[in-house]
Amino acid sequence: MTIHHTKHQQAYVDNLNKALAGKPAWQGLTIEEVVKKVKDAPEVIRAAVRNNSGGVWNHDFFWSVMAKPGTTPKGELLEAIKASFGDEAGFQKAFVAAATGRFGSGWAWLVPGPAGKGKPLAIVTSQNQDNPLMEGGPRPVLGVDVWEHAYYLKYRNLRAKYLEAWFTVVNWDAVAANFAKK
Ligand code: MN
Repeated sequence: MTIHHTKHQQAYVDNLNKALAGKPAWQGLTIEEVVKKVKDAPEVIRAAVRNNSGGVWNHDFFWSVMAKPGTTPKGELLEAIKASFGDEAGFQKAFVAAATGRFGSGWAWLVPGPAGKGKPLAIVTSQNQDNPLMEGGPRPVLGVDVWEHAYYLKYRNLRAKYLEAWFTVVNWDAVAANFAKK
């Protein structure tokens, strides 16, 4: 995780700053504001802004939803998990299936479900460093990096083993706070 933070995420920070150098309209924005307007970036830097702003936001978010083991879903969040996936085990199974099923590099997200469609939570995945905010979608409440760089050093090719271990360090209090802000 230290290498992941200091090398991989740092590269996205450096490359985003390079792409936005000399672009005053983009300089005062938060990273979330940049992510939400990647489609407005000038064509010549659009791919760089998309990949690298996603790389920064996604990793910031990823660190924010992990903590020492010991937190559990409770209250409104737990009720939403039950209503959407049956129970916690059903949620974990569905989330791991989506995350292992994401072909190549990408992310799996737990997001507030579409308004008026019944389920309060849904699982989506995205490729590369994309995320739902770029498509005008909901702000995720939980997300996991399934790029090989996230797990290859310790888990080799075993993405599911990494996900099983990762679930022990999910910060459910942070997820609940994200869900409350939806
Ligand atoms: Mn990563």
